Amino acid sequence: MIINFRQLATRKDETISFQEQIDISDLVRNRTDILSSEPLSVELDASYVSGAVQVAGKLETRLELSCSRCLEHFYQPLEIPFYELFVHQKVKSEDTDADDADEDEDIHFIPEEKFDITPFVEENVLLSLPFIPVCEEECKGLCPVCGADRNLQPCECKTEKADPRLEGLKEWFNK
Ligand SMILES: [Zn+2]
Ligand SMILES: [Zn+2]
Repeated sequence: MIINFRQLATRKDETISFQEQIDISDLVRNRTDILSSEPLSVELDASYVSGAVQVAGKLETRLELSCSRCLEHFYQPLEIPFYELFVHQKVKSEDTDADDADEDEDIHFIPEEKFDITPFVEENVLLSLPFIPVCEEECKGLCPVCGADRNLQPCECKTEKADPRLEGLKEWFNK
């Protein structure tokens, strides 16, 4: 997915569309709780907007995850909005003065005339991965004592950790 600054700058009203499927299995390889990933569907439009190339659209995939509480496998769709601005670095040195520095935080300065947006797409995916996958908000998880899946069957184990400071109070009330 190559962006060419000069090409876009000379055809200002034109939008270049990218529609691709990217294999992200390598990207999520070191996440043991991500069991598999469907190819990432990339739908992005690049256009030249006041000195910058704006790339906007969405990324979509579906992940097979292992629940962090009950270890059950489940599928979770992931839809990631994408919006990034790119400026050819030569433009930066000519046009940007120090006052604009804060506003430029989200702009990527690219030294080359042509560049690949794939690394930016991959970065967006990495930042959007579920941090701690949970099959359902209400998932009760596995019993730490007997290992039973508490979503399927309640067990008799007492797993509430008693606060030693409250134990004394309880005894006092029981008297
Ligand atoms: Zn679960
Ligand atoms: Zn149990």
